[in-house]
Formats: sequence, structure tokens, C-alpha cells
Amino acid sequence: MNAPSLFLDRDGVINQLRPNDYVTSPDQLIVLPGVPEALAICRKYFQHIFIVTNQQGIGKHLMTEDDLSAIHQHMTSLIGPIDRIYHCPNLVSDHSFRRKPNIGMAIQAKHDFPDLQLSQCLMVGDTYTDMLFGRRAKMKTVLIADDNSLACTYPHLVDFHFRTLIDFANLYVAPLLGGH
Ligand SMILES: [Mg+2]
Repeated sequence: MNAPSLFLDRDGVINQLRPNDYVTSPDQLIVLPGVPEALAICRKYFQHIFIVTNQQGIGKHLMTEDDLSAIHQHMTSLIGPIDRIYHCPNLVSDHSFRRKPNIGMAIQAKHDFPDLQLSQCLMVGDTYTDMLFGRRAKMKTVLIADDNSLACTYPHLVDFHFRTLIDFANLYVAPLLGGH
């Protein structure tokens, strides 16, 4: 049996949200407290770590694919390596199969990493869309949120709830490491 892998949403999990705006340049990406430390713990347990992120700022021509690559290069210089970063540039109105809550990015990961067992993976995100994506892809879901309103509204979509990624790493992942 393969070790589980981890799927992470980006905005609101790895980096600070920009209310009503997109991260369109590296200087706008502010990593949330404890995220590098959380990922260091996660790397000890999960076989792969992926980011799956909707970035319709590209579809809106607010940034280019090259801008996003520069943002992600800067991000990984701050948080450490990520096995693969998947993004969907499409607009909501495009109804892309890649765009969460559709599961195209999970299917792509399974294609790229054939050993992946999605039913053993975790999806960590901060929105309803992330939870639905995880559920549709047969993963366990982890909500990152300050309060429990989303978890209470959609209990069938949320398996675990933590306030921050470092809480998830310390309280959920670290105990699984046992004596390793
Ligand atoms: Mg998010």
C-alpha cells in the first residue's frame, strides 16, 4: 500500500488572501505564519505534496503564465520544494474540468504519478470549493478556517478542521509519524 499524498490549496492555506484581488506578482505573495515548518513535518509523512490552485487572474489577463511561474518560484524559495504545482487559468464561465471543484487537477496528478491512490490522499483547503473538490476526488478533506461556520454548514464535506496549516501539521500529521 502506498503512503498517502497531500493536496494543498494555495491562497488562504499557504499564503495570505488578498481580499477581492489576486496575487499577480511575487512581492504580493505573503506566506502565512508556520507554513514552512508545517510543510517540513508533512514531507516526513506524505509521499508527495501537490498544490492545486485556481488562478483565473490569468484568464482575466491580470497576469500571464510567466508571472505565475515567477510567483511560484518565489513561493518555493520560501516554503521549500513542492512535488508538482497544478493550476487552472480558466474563468469560472469557461466551465473547465480543471477548475475546482471539478477534479481535473486531481486526475492530472494521478496521470503524472500513477502510484497515487486518491482515496488515501488528503485535500487541504480553505473554501467550500476545495472541500467539494476533495470529496469528488474521493479524498479525505481538511478545512483550514478561523471559525467552524463552513464545517458546520457542510459537515458531509469536511472530515477535519484546523485553524492553520501548522495546527494541522502538529495535531494531525506529527502524531502519525510515531517513532519515525
Ligand atoms: Mg483558497
